[in-house]
Amino acid sequence: MSCKENYLEVLDKVKKDLEKAGRDISECTLVAVSKTKPLELLKEAYDAGCRDFGENYVQELVDKIPNMPEDVRWHMIGHLQTNKVKYLIGKTYLIHSVDTVKLAKEIGKQSEKAGIVTDILLEVNVAEEESKFGFTADNIMDGVREIAKIPGVCIKGLMTSAPICEDSEENRVYFRKLKQLSIDIKKQNIDNVYMGFLSMGMSGDYEVALSEGSTYVRVGTAIFGERDYSKKN
Ligand SMILES: *Cc1c(COP(=O)(O)O)cnc(C)c1O
Repeated sequence: MSCKENYLEVLDKVKKDLEKAGRDISECTLVAVSKTKPLELLKEAYDAGCRDFGENYVQELVDKIPNMPEDVRWHMIGHLQTNKVKYLIGKTYLIHSVDTVKLAKEIGKQSEKAGIVTDILLEVNVAEEESKFGFTADNIMDGVREIAKIPGVCIKGLMTSAPICEDSEENRVYFRKLKQLSIDIKKQNIDNVYMGFLSMGMSGDYEVALSEGSTYVRVGTAIFGERDYSKKN
């Protein structure tokens, strides 16, 4: 199947999953995760109607932007190093992967310099996997309070990457936990903190994530096919 067909099929599936969950179609955005994929494939997805693309690597993202139409909304979803922030500022629609207060401070500093406010999500490692970045369920509230005070950034919600698993139902508990955390944070009514968005669900588990309240599903493989990292330098 072409990537255009894949995109339309996933989009249709997302709509059906939302309907099944009794949610409105407008409540969730399908982000096509195009890391390591060539521009031709991104353009195919664009032609099928896709406007939201997710990337993991700063250099790749910055290289792709001028080669795609201007109405693309770029989502940074990968671990971001503090020293790379300056290359990204003003170019993203949303940074999903803010995993430390230090990183938020640098995004704030560079955003202020550019005279803008950058929208961010805070990444929570709800499954407490050692290999993953992110706040923990225990320290996210402190993180939110500190980051809320930083000029130049605006917290829009939370993000998580659930473990790779055989049965996507196993991840339901993590999606539910992220949703609960966002409810708990919202209740605190902290200035400059909006808990309107939950970025959760990937190719293998987006249906479960949608039924638990996801507002951004990040789907790569199901749209663009398997990734080949051997060609990356
Ligand atoms: C690569 C990646 C995805 C997409 O994963 P697929 O399983 O290919 O859909 C989603 N989120 C993050 C953070 C990623 O790094």
